[in-house]
Amino acid sequence: MLIHLIRSPLGYFLYDAKVNKVESISKSLHDYLSQLEDYSNLPDSCPDTEEINSLQESGLLSPCTISGIKHPLTEHLPDFLDRSLSHLILQVTQNCNFRCSYCPYTDNSGIQRLHSTQRMTIDSARQALDFLHKHSIDAPTITVGFYGGEPMLEWALIKQVVYEAEKMFEGKELRFNMTSNGSLLTNEVLDFLTDHNFTLSISLDGPKEVNDKNRKFHNNNQSTFSCVQEKVNLIKNDYPEFLLRLTFTMVMDPANDYSAISALPDILDARNVPFLASIVNDLDAKEKHSYEECFISPYQYAYFLRYLSQIKRYIPAPIEIIANIFEQETFKVNASFQPSPLPDITTPGGPCAPGYKKFFVNVEGNIYACEKVPESESMKIGDIYSGFNMEKVNTLLNIGCLTKDKCIRCWAFRLCGSCMLYACNGEELSSQKRSDFCSEIKAQAHQLIRSYILRKDLNHHNIVMEEAVNG
Ligand code: SF4
Ligand code: SF4
Repeated sequence: MLIHLIRSPLGYFLYDAKVNKVESISKSLHDYLSQLEDYSNLPDSCPDTEEINSLQESGLLSPCTISGIKHPLTEHLPDFLDRSLSHLILQVTQNCNFRCSYCPYTDNSGIQRLHSTQRMTIDSARQALDFLHKHSIDAPTITVGFYGGEPMLEWALIKQVVYEAEKMFEGKELRFNMTSNGSLLTNEVLDFLTDHNFTLSISLDGPKEVNDKNRKFHNNNQSTFSCVQEKVNLIKNDYPEFLLRLTFTMVMDPANDYSAISALPDILDARNVPFLASIVNDLDAKEKHSYEECFISPYQYAYFLRYLSQIKRYIPAPIEIIANIFEQETFKVNASFQPSPLPDITTPGGPCAPGYKKFFVNVEGNIYACEKVPESESMKIGDIYSGFNMEKVNTLLNIGCLTKDKCIRCWAFRLCGSCMLYACNGEELSSQKRSDFCSEIKAQAHQLIRSYILRKDLNHHNIVMEEAVNG
């Protein structure tokens, strides 16, 4: 049985991965089950037989029969990669004019690449576009993204790629996007981005004193915040319509005061520009970031206020940096608990289908599933000259096979978020590394169930209140 017990202020619950359901249970059943070391066979002597029978009638508490791991897209992905590619991300340079302290390319444990002067040639960029063109026959919309390092260091190349893509994909909806530190924006650049259907993501981590702690120029000690704020003001003053195509990305360092970080939208005074915030990722960092009380308490309080806003007891500010994190969790909760039977042969949650939503081409023309993975042999799924290596694609799609015996006995099977990144040990895939993350992944799954229980209760509360008010 793949079950997990949850105790929360709202009561006692049981999650059963076999049917993907969370059910409320009695305290006595919770206490009884929590004493068992193994759920594979419930002893006949169980004191809550009636409750167990009733749960079993609803499909819960039945033996789990996963016998093998195979992603449901395994058979369809080759066709998809042949005809339906739609989103190419080009690494136009491995260089950057910043050296942010948390950046995986600044300092890491040897798994990610480091900053370098390698850049993409126009011939490689053309070849990547051509590859996308040949393999996107069924895709109505094409997106080309520019990534680095700092992609703006290769501005001439970006412009050339845009002109060529516009010719090549005539007749299809074509979009461009760029992830940038924002420091190199000029009027000429903004005119071009406006005219060529670009969306832009600018990174800023908080007000000056917070941002500048981690985000630093490579060659001088000037404030990166002041530089980027000037560029944001340029957009606000000269390109107000472009604000609709702008997003701020924020990496929150939990050593900083959350209240100070969250003042950024007011300081920038760029209304209606969304913030995509996340907490710094320590996956392959040499040193883990510390979580300070000045971050944890106000962050949790801001999260609590978001919950209150769900039952209309609090009106959130138009732009709050926590909004996106809360919405992402809402999306995840809504997507994760659809009751459905678990097939005998399936995959644990976590792996994305390489190429399905996007594919990343680095300066050398090698293809990877996304821009976050290390550019190592184990993560490489082909190149723009000879195409996808379907054996590698298949291995990464079915990354769960690495830890099959553990996964098929794991209650977090369906809620698992362990993708290929968690198994990458540089040049090879590592079942040990994947296993090392299991307790963290299970803690996240446990939290997701608690969030589901709370949100369900709040929804119920909302319905009851509305009925009371409206008669
Ligand atoms: S701007 Fe981006 S690529 Fe450059 S050092 Fe900072 S995080 Fe890394
Ligand atoms: S948490 Fe670990 S054992 Fe469980 S499904 Fe994920 S990778 Fe497998």
